[in-house]
Amino acid sequence: MLSTAASSRANTLLRGEILGLHAYHVPDSSGYVKLDAMENPYRLPHELRSEIARAVADAAINRYPDPAAASLKEKIRGVTGLPDGMEVLLGNGSDELIQLLALALNKSGATLLSVEPSFVMYRMIATFTGMRYVGVPLAADFSLDLPATLTAIEREQPALVFLAYPNNPTGNLFSADAVAQIIETAQGLVVVDEAYYAFAGDSFIPHLAHYPNLLVMRTFSKLGMAGLRLGFLAGNTAWLEQLEKLRLPYNVGVLTQLVAEKLLEHHEVLLQQAEQIKRDRATLYRQLSEITAVQVYPSEANFLLFRVANATKVFNSLKQRGVLIKNLHGGHPMLNDCLRVTVGTPEENDRFIATLMKSIS
Ligand code: PMP
Repeated sequence: MLSTAASSRANTLLRGEILGLHAYHVPDSSGYVKLDAMENPYRLPHELRSEIARAVADAAINRYPDPAAASLKEKIRGVTGLPDGMEVLLGNGSDELIQLLALALNKSGATLLSVEPSFVMYRMIATFTGMRYVGVPLAADFSLDLPATLTAIEREQPALVFLAYPNNPTGNLFSADAVAQIIETAQGLVVVDEAYYAFAGDSFIPHLAHYPNLLVMRTFSKLGMAGLRLGFLAGNTAWLEQLEKLRLPYNVGVLTQLVAEKLLEHHEVLLQQAEQIKRDRATLYRQLSEITAVQVYPSEANFLLFRVANATKVFNSLKQRGVLIKNLHGGHPMLNDCLRVTVGTPEENDRFIATLMKSIS
């Protein structure tokens, strides 16, 4: 059989790290109330959609995109309020930038350090780029265990440190002082991953100029552009002009550049949606904390982490009833019986709460 022969050839030729990996799992979500992936649940206003449609109709998709994406970068600088002297580097989603950083800093024996539980791609990308990975456990309340983290940094001397600020999947924002101490202690590059910045009350962008080993990474995925795939790294030119060498020439396509620019011209629409999501997060948090069987954790992101007995059963029962959230049970010992729900529209959140009550009882 051809497939047996292909499989044996692949098993012989592929690197052991790849064979040992499990692919990042994305379940089929069609037909569900989709609260599993931290997307913005809102569509764009009609006039803006028409404006985008006209711009797309005129786009030269027969040509490669502007390789420097100069005009889009200018818009990003504007909405981000980048300090003077700081640059941006664009990625096809921020996942691509994590990979680019790992490729760039992966000298022989180099270590990537993060905390756990956190975004699973840090570990996964370290593994498939061949970097050594160290995960420092968070404290029981999911705050940073600062003494343990500083000790690990001094012991392991990581070339690259990732801190998600706010953290995924726990939702909390680490103490800014603790993050600053980590940046000061690390000899390596520290990347503060602000994927959920739109829902949080703090950012390290204003501090970029204070630290020679700090970069801030953001994505527009959670702000309402998940389908476009656009993320960026912000920081000192000395870092970015080197990293730029690893960026594939046309990694951000014509349509992404064009539509993202249009959306950033109407940034206030997306920010208003984020404000609505923050208000609904507060309602959802209150509703979850009123359910005795549920322990919900504070969040500065667009999702809530909660613990409930027999989480996998509850997850499956929600799914059977048409509501898809994320089951974290089994992913990390600190996430036993934990589920994560993205804040949706008020109707979706109501449907989730009502279905959760049925699923628990
Ligand atoms: N960082 C964090 C902390 C995330 O949670 C995610 C998405 N779940 C990403 C980065 C990647 O986002 P994207 O590739 O869509 O930009």
